[in-house]
Amino acid sequence: MKVNQNRAFILPLITEGANLETGSANELWIVKRLWEQNSFNSRIKVICNGPKTDAYAGLIKELRDQGLDVVPIIESYDELSKLSKYKGQVGIRVNLDIKTSSHWDKKFEQFGFSPDEIKSIGKIPNLSILHYHAGSQMKRSNDITSALKEGFQIYCALKQSNPKLDTINIGGGFAVNYEKKKMYSIQSLVQRIVSFLAKSSEQAGVQPPHIICEWGRHIMAPSQITVFKVILEKTINNGKTAKKWYVVDGSFMNDLLDTWAIHQKWHVVPINNMFAKKMEKVWLAGLSCDSDDKYTGDGYVNLPNTAELAEGESQYIAILDTGAYQDALASCHCLLPSPGKIVCQDGDINVARERETAEEMGKLFGW
Ligand SMILES: *Cc1c(COP(=O)(O)O)cnc(C)c1O
Repeated sequence: MKVNQNRAFILPLITEGANLETGSANELWIVKRLWEQNSFNSRIKVICNGPKTDAYAGLIKELRDQGLDVVPIIESYDELSKLSKYKGQVGIRVNLDIKTSSHWDKKFEQFGFSPDEIKSIGKIPNLSILHYHAGSQMKRSNDITSALKEGFQIYCALKQSNPKLDTINIGGGFAVNYEKKKMYSIQSLVQRIVSFLAKSSEQAGVQPPHIICEWGRHIMAPSQITVFKVILEKTINNGKTAKKWYVVDGSFMNDLLDTWAIHQKWHVVPINNMFAKKMEKVWLAGLSCDSDDKYTGDGYVNLPNTAELAEGESQYIAILDTGAYQDALASCHCLLPSPGKIVCQDGDINVARERETAEEMGKLFGW
């Protein structure tokens, strides 16, 4: 759920039979909401990652007592004792000892137990899931399979003292093809995962485990595009070189925050004027007063020359695959409102969120 908490994005997933993973008490509160509104089938599994604060642990127990299949993942010794009397199934998270080429695979991270710690814990009441999360946007499929290899070894070791362990949760990490370059396919990777587990289980003499994956980015990113209108063109000449800026009616720094934070690249395409004879190198900037409010990507993008627009026509551009993470990271620098949100589903078009007004934004700051 942390990848995209919007109702219009979550509901279709659970109707399609997806299970859910939460990372905080408030994300689990959304599950409670769905449950109270009867939009939630009690057979859907809810995996709870993230630090179990008292509020989070309390809600986990509450929903479990109401009949939901809520599975907390134990991430620390503190949680091990906190959840020792939990009546439902639990999982445990291992911090794998491998290096992947992902921005999010840190040398020292605060999540889970080391492989040695896990192996020495011994019996854990109601343990059914071994979980790991090796990184996000893993562009090399070998990183995903080598994590699986190490994960499976720990699975087998853990199973000796926990015979009811029957599921391996391989976390997130399936990459999004943001740049529309060559990448592995979901079919080939799933095939490799399943056949690896089938073969290794046979060799190890264990029942092949159920598999959970939490490929949030992969599912959510392609579900949204962000549309901007170019409202100003400006050529800046520093004496040696000239750069042409297109200023858009929104903010990269606020609403596509990863371009600022981690230099995320997206595919940028024109929406109109697509067959313009002349393309040009342009740099994209947002509306805030911040010199960091720009699309960093590869620097410039190639967009149509606006001289070819009809009288009174504006240039629109789309940033593809923006459905993962950007909404929850969004900010309100310069009190700029976030873009409105339009949901297109099964031929229906609905406004899910209007652009915020000055009153709504002012209220956030006590006005
Ligand atoms: C962030 C996160 C995910 C989602 O990762 P993606 O790279 O978006 O697929 C899955 N599981 C855990 C535990 C996470 O923290």
